[in-house]
Amino acid sequence: MVKIVTLKRKEKSEIYYVCEECGLMYSEFSIAERCEEWCRNYKSCNLKITKNAINFKG
Ligand SMILES: [Zn+2]
Repeated sequence: MVKIVTLKRKEKSEIYYVCEECGLMYSEFSIAERCEEWCRNYKSCNLKITKNAINFKG
């Protein structure tokens, strides 16, 4: 199951969706769902999906 998390950034909270298989975070539920499905089936990451992941370093 895709996990829904709420994070507070710059005074407003944003909702993110986390793939429970690989732990990557997405801003769209549908992408997180696709990632999780892929991770579960192939035990690897699909670059076309993971490039949409949110990077908090920036
Ligand atoms: Zn994943």
